[in-house]
Amino acid sequence: MIQQKKSNQYIQVRDKTQLWYWFSCGVNQIFEDFRAETLSYRKKFKRRIFINRKAPVLFVAHLDTVYPPTIQTETATHYFGTGFDDRLGCWIAYVLSEKLKTDLLLTDLEESCQSTAICHSCKKYNWIAEFDRRGDDVVTYDFQNEKWVRDLSEFWLIGLGTFSDISFLDTNVCRVNIGIGFYNEHTKYSFVDKGIMQQQIEKFEKFFAKHKNEQYIQDLIPYRIKRTKSNYNQAIYNQAILQYDVTCDLCNEFGTTKIGEYELCSDCLDMLILEIKDEIEKNQEIIDSVPTCDGYWDWSEKAKGDNDEIFEG
Ligand SMILES: [Zn+2]
Ligand SMILES: [Zn+2]
Repeated sequence: MIQQKKSNQYIQVRDKTQLWYWFSCGVNQIFEDFRAETLSYRKKFKRRIFINRKAPVLFVAHLDTVYPPTIQTETATHYFGTGFDDRLGCWIAYVLSEKLKTDLLLTDLEESCQSTAICHSCKKYNWIAEFDRRGDDVVTYDFQNEKWVRDLSEFWLIGLGTFSDISFLDTNVCRVNIGIGFYNEHTKYSFVDKGIMQQQIEKFEKFFAKHKNEQYIQDLIPYRIKRTKSNYNQAIYNQAILQYDVTCDLCNEFGTTKIGEYELCSDCLDMLILEIKDEIEKNQEIIDSVPTCDGYWDWSEKAKGDNDEIFEG
């Protein structure tokens, strides 16, 4: 059945300029589709798509999502679904990079703080832009200089952000993450305001036309996120949750966690835990019903420390 689903997808997903291509497959499928442009294809913690047009500007987006990417409903003004962070950004970065002839980097594992951008040897660009932010402001994560901030401010409000793929890139040029109109990212109920998305793309094209040939070097000490052991453990944990090319062994739902040799979705996992708890309670009733023999079998008394002498004997 899975096979059939994949082969249907295969026929329909060819056109990467279409938004819904980016919402029709898992990360593995996209890497396969971009096999020729994928670096470190066989290495899960390094692989990334890089389209080199020998351009002075780089666009970045990440392929991994918290929930499987889907567009459930489209209205005149909105898209409703999941995974807009950052599949919407992938689509925008892909289409704009073709149109504006920039380089393109599509990474993996951003949501688990293990962005494969860290493995990328970055050319010295004029500046770098990423499309991976809610709403309509922009952030620089302090990868900035005075002029960069001033020039961005002509177009956008500058907000505050924690980190994103561009924080992992090893380079000292200025960077910006552009809001693309998605909201409630990382939840099952995220959506996109198409008007804001459109307005942000238009603004960006104007900004690009004006500043593409200008190089901006950070005036702060270059800083980037490092690969640490705790980040790595977090990544492994998140990856377990993000295995959405796999379906639940019990109900076939996407979004599973690996438990031993089984793949289980959170609903089935909760159900099993309840059943196990039930089982334990029943066993406890049996244990409780066994008559105790003056301290020897009464573990609860032992726990209180009342019968220490008996056991010591
Ligand atoms: Zn993101
Ligand atoms: Zn995110």
